[in-house]
Amino acid sequence: MGLSDITDRVHAAEDKAGRAKGSTRLIAVSKVQPLERVTKVLDEGHRIFGENRVQEAAGKWPDFRKQYDDIELHLIGPLQTNKARQAFELFQAIHSVDRPKLAKTIARLAQETGHCPELFIQINTGEEEQKAGVMPADADAFISQCKALDLPISGLMCIPPVDEAPSLHFALLAKIAKRNGLDGLSMGMSSDFEEAIAHGATHIRVGSAIFGERDYG
Ligand SMILES: *Cc1c(COP(=O)(O)O)cnc(C)c1O
Repeated sequence: MGLSDITDRVHAAEDKAGRAKGSTRLIAVSKVQPLERVTKVLDEGHRIFGENRVQEAAGKWPDFRKQYDDIELHLIGPLQTNKARQAFELFQAIHSVDRPKLAKTIARLAQETGHCPELFIQINTGEEEQKAGVMPADADAFISQCKALDLPISGLMCIPPVDEAPSLHFALLAKIAKRNGLDGLSMGMSSDFEEAIAHGATHIRVGSAIFGERDYG
């Protein structure tokens, strides 16, 4: 595996789904990966990366930005309101908007700074207690609330439960997005991105299949 294999598989999945080549944005999830592996993918020309922790991203991406132009960084993990300001400085997109307090903080920072990252609302499609995200039943109301705050919501994001067929969750996310007039769908990881593309994913988040297994040891 590696970047070019995954890019080929993305294009094949787009083709099979009758979608335009390049209509899926591939976010290379670099969390926990050794810097050499990230450098290799940067040298291969890739520029869209995902991190799940603000602190970790702050530790490595400012240096990479000095060496490489046009890096686009996506926050795909939970965001505490006290880190929102830092997230504004580091990230071009936030995929984990999931509660009114955070939405209000983001709205205030957008007012203050005159810019806002691209935003995705995380939906807890599996209704898992330990997982972040808005419950499906509360999604429409929360999306309306974000729109009322003038937040630039691009779409929705989900992380399906590990032990369930992801396609059901992708279909549910697509349905909630559609009825709310949202186009963006951030869904699909190393093990299921092709299915996600078949269900209309606009952003897939792929880590280990590009970089190799993560070593948390
Ligand atoms: C780590 C992570 C990924 C990537 O997972 P892989 O299985 O390595 O592709 C995708 N999305 C989120 C939210 C993650 O935290």
